[in-house]
Amino acid sequence: MIYLDNAATSWPKPPMVARAMMGTLLKLGGNPGRSGHKLSLCGGRIMERCRELLAAHLDAPSADNVIFTSGCTEALNLAIRGSLYKGDEVLCSHAEHNAVMRVLKSLEAEGSITVKVLRPDGNGIISPEILSAAVSPRTALCVLCHASNVTGVVQPVEKLSAVLKKRGVPLLVDAAQTAGILPVSLKRLGADMIALPGHKGLLGPHGTGVLVLGPGMAPRPLTMGGTGSLSESMLQPSSLPDRYESGTPNLPGIAGLLAGARFALSHRQEIEEYEGQLARRLRDGLRSIRQLRLLGSDAVPMVGVVSFVPTLCDPGELCDRLAREGFALRAGLHCAPSVHQWQGTLESGACRASVGIYNTEDEVDRLVDAVRRMLSGY
Ligand code: PMP
Repeated sequence: MIYLDNAATSWPKPPMVARAMMGTLLKLGGNPGRSGHKLSLCGGRIMERCRELLAAHLDAPSADNVIFTSGCTEALNLAIRGSLYKGDEVLCSHAEHNAVMRVLKSLEAEGSITVKVLRPDGNGIISPEILSAAVSPRTALCVLCHASNVTGVVQPVEKLSAVLKKRGVPLLVDAAQTAGILPVSLKRLGADMIALPGHKGLLGPHGTGVLVLGPGMAPRPLTMGGTGSLSESMLQPSSLPDRYESGTPNLPGIAGLLAGARFALSHRQEIEEYEGQLARRLRDGLRSIRQLRLLGSDAVPMVGVVSFVPTLCDPGELCDRLAREGFALRAGLHCAPSVHQWQGTLESGACRASVGIYNTEDEVDRLVDAVRRMLSGY
């Protein structure tokens, strides 16, 4: 199997991720933060270590501003639903995933908010001028996808956040495709909140994610319940992270995330370069095939997500044929219809190959050869 679906979830994981998870299941059976015995305390310490590591890399005001979630989707839901009030206006890019778009559009359909989708330039980039013109006195939040999970195009979030800062609009960044790969932090991006998955670039397991809250950010919690703290109170604690983390935490997942993130963040720059190199090789190879259209733009920065549309056959059919030869890609709309609409591929969808740290140049070349061979038959 040649796994090229790292934008969905990275695989394989470094071996220490599975070992850390097994360790919690075999040796740390307690419920973290609940009891005074050794098993509960050790579990709590693993969670603290993971919070501290991520807080240091994300420039969080404190480790407690790192909120564990079940994935990027829950982190985005918490940040968006918890921050908005009736009558608010929200700005977002054309490249948002349904984890953002469906939340915003459902709030709009209820009559709670209005949503303005920003128009990009021909390369898929939102300019500071476009953003500035869209901000109004009612704008309560801007949500930006750092890198598209369809085109791979990276938004110049640093420049856009400067515009928002001047106008007093908080910025939520969806770093699903960039955390662990590009430099992602509240300070570097100028963001107020960042949502990220633990299971993609950070190399942790499924079912892990984080919302990092910048200074002054206090969304209303999505869930309430037992936190192991202030149990005498029938009200949700207001202190972080308990305000947002009710119920038994995903300790095996967080232990795996700690191991994966340690590896990814200590090699981040090499990973950025390596994946960039693989993606450029893949794009160059695919570009030489006449019977397909490559999405994205080489004129702007991109991550290792490479989508293409065969002009003479259905992308789903091509991905199925590739799967039969052992290539794992993803066909369809990749839960991001708005960016496909902008690319004119809403009807057809696309084939998406997304590289990861364990892919090789040889694997990329084999994919290009297979696509060339398959498409030459049409
Ligand atoms: N945003 C983007 C840009 C994504 O690519 C994804 C995952 N496909 C998500 C959000 C949702 O992430 P998760 O699967 O961790 O909920």
